[in-house]
Amino acid sequence: MNEKIINFASKLFKQYYSNSFIKIDKIEQKEFGFGDFNNKISFRHFSFKNINEFNSYAISKAPAYISFSSAYYKNPSARPMKNKVWLGSDLIFDLDANDLDLSCIKIHGNSWVCKNCFDNIKNETIKLIEDFLIPDFGFSKNELKINFSGNRGYHVHVLNKAVAELDSDARKQISNYIKADNIDLEIFFPTLNKRGPLIGPKPDEFGWGGKLAKTMISLLNKNIEELINLGIEKQIAKKLIKNKAEVIFGITTGNWDKISIPKKSEFWKEILKKIAIKQSNSIDKNVTNDIHHLIRVPDTLHGETGLIAKTISLNDFDKFDPMNDAIAFDNGQKIKIHVQNSPKFYMKNIEFGPFDNEDIEIPLYAGLYLLLKNVGNLRD
Ligand SMILES: [Zn+2]
Repeated sequence: MNEKIINFASKLFKQYYSNSFIKIDKIEQKEFGFGDFNNKISFRHFSFKNINEFNSYAISKAPAYISFSSAYYKNPSARPMKNKVWLGSDLIFDLDANDLDLSCIKIHGNSWVCKNCFDNIKNETIKLIEDFLIPDFGFSKNELKINFSGNRGYHVHVLNKAVAELDSDARKQISNYIKADNIDLEIFFPTLNKRGPLIGPKPDEFGWGGKLAKTMISLLNKNIEELINLGIEKQIAKKLIKNKAEVIFGITTGNWDKISIPKKSEFWKEILKKIAIKQSNSIDKNVTNDIHHLIRVPDTLHGETGLIAKTISLNDFDKFDPMNDAIAFDNGQKIKIHVQNSPKFYMKNIEFGPFDNEDIEIPLYAGLYLLLKNVGNLRD
């Protein structure tokens, strides 16, 4: 990125930190890492005695990226790592629209993000919280903190004392549960390998059994393509759809044997495996098993967008729109830039672009977004 853009953005970042006061719990136990406009983390092993010292640092250096450890340490700046003395780590989920395999990504490329990306990643985040963290793990709402990542997704921090002490292996078990690894179907289907009717989970059951029943019902309520996409043979998919009311009623009452399916044990095993993967793939990829991981400090700026990694309360999450609610620089000012090329994007519900090698005058927040995405230059 050229010096002119870096100077321009740094001045704005300084302005943001001068007008904000970032709060961080147990700051004296956190390791910090900082990045410039070319590198997300250019140095780490930094620590602060208190929150004032941190905020003064942010104002004077205006870093492009500010990250901290999910871990708490006795001596956060000590090196090598073992001298830091690990005390625990928050469990953090990092959900990014790029991991969702969305068809829109083929159109706008993976450094850009559209409404569809944001809708989908929000749904994944809600699914993580409402289908796993609260019902299955028993976390309470006030132990969960969500923030926008500053770019394409969301971070969910689980601030729970018992979880903080889990080592990497135990964290892996959490992700194994979420992806239903080694799921033993006979727990949900006691008659799976026996003669007689197939008894299975009901939708209101706890954990994976209930999730599988609910998903199967919702797939049956959609269309035949959804079933074929799951790998169900066309003939059987047709039969399921034709008898949909009865099949759904069956699942609701725990009877999974409403239509005759050849080799039903293998059949349901395959289907449920696929549902489990579909449900949890994007979540699983992003569990931070690494207890020494650094992650964006909530409410700091993201150096690739100029947006705030804004903290969102659980109650407001549904309404939250990053491209409206996480904008840092909205003072009515416009800037003149030359854009090489960009797909269309929207901010504050205004659609910008697509731009192709043109001179434009654009609101500061949208211009900064383009400059930091490195597709434009400031004009004099
Ligand atoms: Zn998209």
